[in-house]
Amino acid sequence: MNELVRSTASELAALIHSGEVSSAEVTRMHLERIAAVDPEIHAFLHVAGDAALSTAAEVDAALAAGEQPRSPLAGVPLALKDVFTTVDMPTTCGSKILDGWQPPYDATVTARLRAAGVVILGKTNMDEFAMGSSTEHSAFGPTRNPWDTRRVPGGSGGGSAASLAAFEAPLAMGTDTGGSIRQPAALTGTVGVKPTYGGVSRYGLVACASSLDQAGPCARTVLDAALLHEVLAGHDPLDSTSIDEPVPAVVDAVRRGAQGDLRGLRVGMVKEFAGDGYQPGVQGAYRAALDQLSALGAELVEVSCPHFDYALAAYYLILPSEVSSNLARFDGMRYGLRVDNGAATAEEVMAATREAGFGAEAKRRIMLGTYALSSGYYEAYYGQAQKVRTLISRDFTAAFTKADVLVSPTAPTTAFPIGEKVDDPLAMYLNDLCTIPANMAGNTAMSVPAGLAEEDGLPVGLQIMAPALGEAVMYRVAAAFEAARDAAEGGPLFRRVPGLEVPA
Ligand code: GLN
Repeated sequence: MNELVRSTASELAALIHSGEVSSAEVTRMHLERIAAVDPEIHAFLHVAGDAALSTAAEVDAALAAGEQPRSPLAGVPLALKDVFTTVDMPTTCGSKILDGWQPPYDATVTARLRAAGVVILGKTNMDEFAMGSSTEHSAFGPTRNPWDTRRVPGGSGGGSAASLAAFEAPLAMGTDTGGSIRQPAALTGTVGVKPTYGGVSRYGLVACASSLDQAGPCARTVLDAALLHEVLAGHDPLDSTSIDEPVPAVVDAVRRGAQGDLRGLRVGMVKEFAGDGYQPGVQGAYRAALDQLSALGAELVEVSCPHFDYALAAYYLILPSEVSSNLARFDGMRYGLRVDNGAATAEEVMAATREAGFGAEAKRRIMLGTYALSSGYYEAYYGQAQKVRTLISRDFTAAFTKADVLVSPTAPTTAFPIGEKVDDPLAMYLNDLCTIPANMAGNTAMSVPAGLAEEDGLPVGLQIMAPALGEAVMYRVAAAFEAARDAAEGGPLFRRVPGLEVPA
């Protein structure tokens, strides 16, 4: 392995922009790393080596001609979750029903990455249509966690998170509807940010649950996440829910945070997210993180958000309801798969295509959602869940009068063995206990590595939540915490990923 793949994105950008290493070389060494480890990790569904090398060559040529880098990340490779449309690559969303579909347009996220000169290495594996917490619901087989390849990397964005931990890419893209950026970040010892709803365009992001979906950066350090955040964020007239406000200055906030002074900041510990049901090593790492925040000068206050206890139940009514509507468009007529089987009517083609094309979890949620929305049940299920959603937002509003940011563990456990929860939907859903409230209210939240659990040596994530458009204070706290943790542990967590056994 070329040791340069262990660098951070900002380190690589500095080398590329100063001319010490070319983007082509950096891209090539990541493609070599993918070729070596991805047969085992399976982070990628599609690798676009030629396209990546030609983007890299363009960036190199522009720099050689004396042009300024097109962005602070120009020339740096990235792994794109296979839920963003790409004109030059397939987009499957981890589903057989989109097998063979090549989108006619780029997502705004894809277009912004291209405009910034970011090198797209390929598309990453995910739970089908972003529904799941382990990447086992991908129609193309699971992704493995680089920390222990018998375990899951989390989900739905397990491919993106695993690509970072396995040094296949220094940056990745995720989407977070109930935790799909943050929980995989926690389980792989990486950083994942769910921006404020509307902060990053959803145009060309294949919809899971439109009122909850949000795209965001995945990286190995807080600074790298912030650099990517600023490339992605900002108003997009093509997304009517996109916020038309200045992008929070997150890179400046990280530089300030890294100075390690959190005096004057109030950190709220969410009382509902600390008790029984959390793995002891997760609780231990969380307590250590609180001590570190306090040592940085932050004032710790306990806050109660009583309706967070109902967030999971309400989410599993709202999400399936939106999914049942959004996935109706996959009818065998317009996109990807079409199963005919000698069908006589359009309805029969639709039924045969959907039967063959969707996996068990997608079907489960379509049925749950259709039921929750059906006449006579709508008020009792969907209507009630929407009321709970309002109460969760009010809990956040009240908590943010007492604290500048809120913290909790990101997930109740560390990475679990492949196969352990795949046949137990409720156990799988419980992974998102702590992450769902931020999606329900639309505010911002992130996961940052908080060390290893004592009993199994696997990564634990600290979740930091902030008000809508409060990204700057959130990144500041994350950067301070990361710097303190790295100093205490003699270096960043990601450098301690055990060497992957690569079969000869
Ligand atoms: N794991 C959650 C679910 O299955 C979250 C998914 C997501 O954020 N896309 O719905």
